[in-house]
Amino acid sequence: MTTATPPQDLRAQMERILRCFRKKARTAAREELARAVNELYQLQLVTSTGGNLSVRIAGRDECWITPSQVPKGKLRPEAMVRIDLEGNALDAGALAPSSEWALHTELYKARPEVQAVIHAHAPYATILGLAQLPFLPINTDAAFLKEMPLVPFIMPGSKELALAVVKAMGQNPACIMQNHGIVAVASNLRRAIDLVESIERTAQLIWGCYAVGKEPPLLPPEAIRILREKGEMLA
Ligand SMILES: [Zn+2]
Repeated sequence: MTTATPPQDLRAQMERILRCFRKKARTAAREELARAVNELYQLQLVTSTGGNLSVRIAGRDECWITPSQVPKGKLRPEAMVRIDLEGNALDAGALAPSSEWALHTELYKARPEVQAVIHAHAPYATILGLAQLPFLPINTDAAFLKEMPLVPFIMPGSKELALAVVKAMGQNPACIMQNHGIVAVASNLRRAIDLVESIERTAQLIWGCYAVGKEPPLLPPEAIRILREKGEMLA
């Protein structure tokens, strides 16, 4: 004969399982973020002190973000900082969050679909911004992106910059911040990394054409239209 578990025991058991599940999910997100920043450092898309990444914690107004003033390249998961959308660190003894945290949190506030934000100091994309050269649909990667807004220089780390980026990006997945770098958002961290890399490689090709005095040839308009429609479906 089996005896029924009292409802309060069952509830306590469920709460324990849920707590354990949330803790595992948090740890996994933190590890994924550390791997991502180290990958971008290897790709030279963030520098030791330039650039920052974050990933939203599913279902909460919180994210993991890279720390301030800790050299990148060998960042460990324990160095990641959990913050709320006002930039408050949520764990005792945590490092200070990136000074550019508002850039991330304002994007999360404005765009519920965004799960990951990367601010990269990607050199070729930044050159396009500096030289005010257009980000052109010269390949399939670039054709997916309808627009690459250019945000004028505003002091890094300021709320003013964060709000200007949100406004300029609208529903776009990326923008260039003049005299600074780029911002890219996506529905997960992997997509955001791939987006940053494809923007930078495309910018390098565009820059290369202008560097040898040639206007880069664009994809045919019909191909651009089809690719942009596909991009909308994938977004
Ligand atoms: Zn920066």
